[in-house]
Amino acid sequence: MTLPSPDGATPAMAQWFSLKAEHPEALLFFRMGDFYEMFFSDAEAAAGALDIALTARGTHGDIPIPMCGVPVGAASSYLARLIRRGFRVAVAEQTEPPRKPGKGGPKGPLARAVVRLVTPGTLTEDELLEAGRQNLLLAVASRGGRGTRGWGVAWIDISTGTFETAAVPAEGLMDLLGRLDPAEILAAAEIDLGDFAARRAPATIPPGPEAARRRVAETFHVASLDAFGTFSDEEAVAGAMALDYVRRSQAGQMPRLSRPQAHENGGVLGLDPATRASLDLLRTRDGGTEHTLLASVGRTVTAPGSRLLAEWIAAPLTRDAAIAARQDGWSWLIEEGGVRAALRQGLRGTPDIARALARLSLGRGLPRDAAAIRDGLAIARRIAQALTDGRTAPPALLADAMRHLGEATDLEARLKQALAEDLPARVEDGGVIAAGFDAELDAERALRDDSRRVIAGLQNDYAQKFGLASLKIRHHAQLGYVIEVPAATAPRLRERTDLILRQGTASAARFSTEELVSLDRRIAEAAERAATRERRIFAALVREILDEPAPPVIAGALAVLDVLQSCADLAAGGMWCRPEVTDDDAFTLTACRHPVVEAALPRSERFTPNDCVLEPAQRVMLLTGPNMAGKSTFLRQTALAVILAQAGLPVPAKAARIGVVDRLFSRVGASDDLARGRSTFMVEMTETAAILNQAGPRSLVVVDEIGRGTATLDGLAIAWSVLEAMHSTLRCRSIFATHFHELAELAESLPRLSPHTMSVREWKGQVIFQHEVIPGSARRSWGVHVARLAGVPEPVVRRAARLLAGLEKERAVGARPLPLFAPADSTPPAEEPDPGVPEPVRRMLEQLDPDELTPRTALDMVYAIKKLMLEES
Ligand code: ADP
Repeated sequence: MTLPSPDGATPAMAQWFSLKAEHPEALLFFRMGDFYEMFFSDAEAAAGALDIALTARGTHGDIPIPMCGVPVGAASSYLARLIRRGFRVAVAEQTEPPRKPGKGGPKGPLARAVVRLVTPGTLTEDELLEAGRQNLLLAVASRGGRGTRGWGVAWIDISTGTFETAAVPAEGLMDLLGRLDPAEILAAAEIDLGDFAARRAPATIPPGPEAARRRVAETFHVASLDAFGTFSDEEAVAGAMALDYVRRSQAGQMPRLSRPQAHENGGVLGLDPATRASLDLLRTRDGGTEHTLLASVGRTVTAPGSRLLAEWIAAPLTRDAAIAARQDGWSWLIEEGGVRAALRQGLRGTPDIARALARLSLGRGLPRDAAAIRDGLAIARRIAQALTDGRTAPPALLADAMRHLGEATDLEARLKQALAEDLPARVEDGGVIAAGFDAELDAERALRDDSRRVIAGLQNDYAQKFGLASLKIRHHAQLGYVIEVPAATAPRLRERTDLILRQGTASAARFSTEELVSLDRRIAEAAERAATRERRIFAALVREILDEPAPPVIAGALAVLDVLQSCADLAAGGMWCRPEVTDDDAFTLTACRHPVVEAALPRSERFTPNDCVLEPAQRVMLLTGPNMAGKSTFLRQTALAVILAQAGLPVPAKAARIGVVDRLFSRVGASDDLARGRSTFMVEMTETAAILNQAGPRSLVVVDEIGRGTATLDGLAIAWSVLEAMHSTLRCRSIFATHFHELAELAESLPRLSPHTMSVREWKGQVIFQHEVIPGSARRSWGVHVARLAGVPEPVVRRAARLLAGLEKERAVGARPLPLFAPADSTPPAEEPDPGVPEPVRRMLEQLDPDELTPRTALDMVYAIKKLMLEES
């Protein structure tokens, strides 16, 4: 909705129009006293989204101004709802203190300015963030606009200070977006963001490469970006875009960020968004977090630990040494049970140091954020101690983490001295700084408190002096300290010249004395001085915290320790193994399970573990079997085992040997994309194309029911040729689940194809799924039985069973096998009769010895053959 013209606005509304013009894409939270108010189209949008009353205030050009508001005290919950619904919010505060009425001075509305832009990618408050998830702002830059030669990507989590970049090849953008799952994306409008398009921020103009390099370097106070490593021009541009956006959103303030870290290309397992979606790694397709891989392996006890575990799962590694380093870390903790228990216990209740630091660095820190640093440092020191109790020396990853844990003890001691036991929620509430820390503060507080004591004593004196036992001294918000008496007794005091009547109501009368007025002033002044002093001390403490380099490093080390103890805790139970990750094309999983399906089974049912062997001699598994027999579960658990193994985590199996996988493709379960106007079959073929174009000998492909979305013969033909391509051209390890049982016959012509099926037992007319993968191929589909299980009415099921029996008989008696089922390559397609080789050409070829041919004579030969063929036809 467009806004009306600002012409003729009242002074306050004119101010609103000018602030709104600075941030047209955001809802403007306009501070008025204890409320943030919204006007015009902002008010209409917010009232709808928040389900709050839309009213009107005043008029603009004779038309009432739509308005709604939210109380300042409850603003963060409203902000959270608006952000979740995709809004951006600009917060305009009063930047001058409220004026006392009637004192002259400046006229017109109080000065206001936008102090912050709240957007999905620039959040810092715990109320707006998910504790266990990163919250990334990501920028994409390319040389040619569309990124034909590759992208520069930079991402920042201002809530933890992470700042990283990567140069990505042209086709790699979606994989990276899937892996990082950013909350907000800065990218020029012509850059296709696929499924992530809804997270695009309003347009920003990228700077040129030179300016970008300069800007990033300046932000980190270095002469050149080269100080931090090698960055491509596109990475620098993306980095500058992200930094500019953060600076703008924080109204010029810059949070403390880690130095930019450029990621090398590679080193990470390739997972495209469709694969991630089919595996429910960090979220299920409906956005839930419960039935996910992360939830099933996570035994972390801190929020930073679960964020790091999520990062490991989202980006499994491809270097066996790096994987082994992680495994060594948790294997050691399994051996050292005492250390593990102490570590787990010690980490519990550790505050989120990284997020507290981010808020402190933005001047948005609360007393509890300073306390978080104090407590975090103390916990780290105790943990460092506990880790030295092992019988053997800890491996590299743990030793690295330990090295930093005992640092910053001076800061810890200072915070312990400075901060009070019971902290208020906000610095302005007073009482943040402990007594005895600062003499001046103590003196002001004493003055304030002494005067209060004097006042308390005055009540008795006045009661006697005025002969009124019911007299009280009370503090009143507007009047300060007053004498309060019941209205009935008031006339007795009215005559007295030493009493000044301040207020009379039906029930009480309030008086003051010169003595009270002066004490009141002394208290107010001392309290004001104490508050100012306290704010100053707190600000100095915050600076000390931010000047100390250890806290962010300690936060990182604690997160690593939490993930390692989580792994050890999981694997110590014996149901999870340390996989052997090798640099060849091995692939054997022994008694592997699907952790999420297993956890979801009712208590009465046991999960059936299965082996999966895709070693070079049998690298393509063809899996047949009825619906509900456990095919998709088997496919997914194999893919999940690879992800866990390469993330350096324990695998739910008795044993596992996995040659490092470079790209993993999983297409399991229908992924209808009808909302985007593509039919199921089109989606299926697009995804099949993606696999066939990208998979190689080091890849793993698990696919379910290729060819199901079209007519039977079409589908079979496609499934057949895809299977052949995987087997003979891509040469990747793969599991190919299908309903086309006929494909098992291909094992005769494809030597590395190993047909397997789900074992099914029939018992008293009932079908029993044993969920066991065995060699062989399915003979029946059991579709009619599954229909019965699903509750299709009995008469329909019985009719279907009779029809099926008839059809099967017909096919057994009459029909020749479909021409497609003949062995591959031996019979030419029936619809195109072979024209044969013309006799003269055949004779010519028979007489020819290819080894004797020069290139020239060969070419002459081709011309001759072509001529003969044309003559024959
Ligand atoms: P399909 O893909 O063959 O239709 P699913 O893999 O979806 O079958 O499995 C159907 C159900 O069977 C699952 O939801 C789960 O409850 C159960 N199931 C699958 N695999 C196993 C197993 N190995 N052990 C126990 N139950 C299983």
